[in-house]
Amino acid sequence: MDCLFCKIIAGEIPGTKVYEDEDVYAFRDINPIAPVHVLIVPKKHISGASEINSDNSAVVAKIFEAAAKIARAEGYPDSFRIVTNCGEDAGQTVHHLHFHLLAGVKMGWSANTGI
Ligand code: 5GP
Ligand code: ZN
Repeated sequence: MDCLFCKIIAGEIPGTKVYEDEDVYAFRDINPIAPVHVLIVPKKHISGASEINSDNSAVVAKIFEAAAKIARAEGYPDSFRIVTNCGEDAGQTVHHLHFHLLAGVKMGWSANTGI
């Protein structure tokens, strides 16, 4: 499958791995918008949050467990943001489910909707 994040998980494209377990992979965003900007993804391809269902949703819990571990390891155990963009209007650019873990800066609250 021609998927950038599947290729990073497979080691076919370089990525800066910060965490891996049986089901979850995490690596640094190539274009960070915060001092800590890690992408946490299921190893098994899911195209986005709209494709989460009762057969594959267990990995989402694993991803949030991984997020808490990574935030601790990065030095921000109790102050971080997790975001997932789904679909065109939300600005999803890579169609492999991913959660942005952001930390290390005081964040405002705006979805940049222009409203
Ligand atoms: P989205 O816009 O789909 O929510 O997020 C995709 C993210 O993937 C962006 O923050 C972008 O910087 C990141 N990204 C795109 N291509 C690569 C890449 O080749 N390597 C890494 N590590 N991140 C990437
Ligand atoms: Zn994929």
